[in-house]
Amino acid sequence: MIAKIYRKYGFLILIAYLIAAFFFPVLGVVAVICMLSPVIFALTGKGRYWCGHFCPRGNFFQNVTCHLSKKRPVPAFLKSAAFRTFMVLFIIGNFSFGIYSNWGNAYGIGMVFYRIIVITTLIGVILSGFYLPRTWCTFCPMGSISSFISWLKRSRQRRGYTKV
Ligand code: SF4
Repeated sequence: MIAKIYRKYGFLILIAYLIAAFFFPVLGVVAVICMLSPVIFALTGKGRYWCGHFCPRGNFFQNVTCHLSKKRPVPAFLKSAAFRTFMVLFIIGNFSFGIYSNWGNAYGIGMVFYRIIVITTLIGVILSGFYLPRTWCTFCPMGSISSFISWLKRSRQRRGYTKV
């Protein structure tokens, strides 16, 4: 029951975040939960379970922007390993620089998170309009890191490195 409601309305968490952190930028850091969770799920062997079930932004694309979507196939280059790697490095680089230059300033650090969430969500919304609703998810850095971790875990299992 709760899972069913969340699947339909989980995007409200994203909207609440965008409004709350607009007025209280310090709250921007709350985004760290959604950034680390997909990685933690992947590390615990659950693959991209977070992306498929809990991510408020994925839920937003699935339930809201899908109504505006032309649902064209995602261009191949957005799914390529090169572009996904670039996005991981680009976003991590931006975060690291932003946090480093605002160290000791809670407002500034909150804004670093908030700005990146707003910009990447806007990009995701625009892409949703042209391509499949969850186009952003094909190269979202946190999704890519989770996929990479899951792939590593699978290849270790195939080579028999896991404990029996
Ligand atoms: S790929 Fe990124 S935006 Fe999409 S569901 Fe996963 S964490 Fe959320």
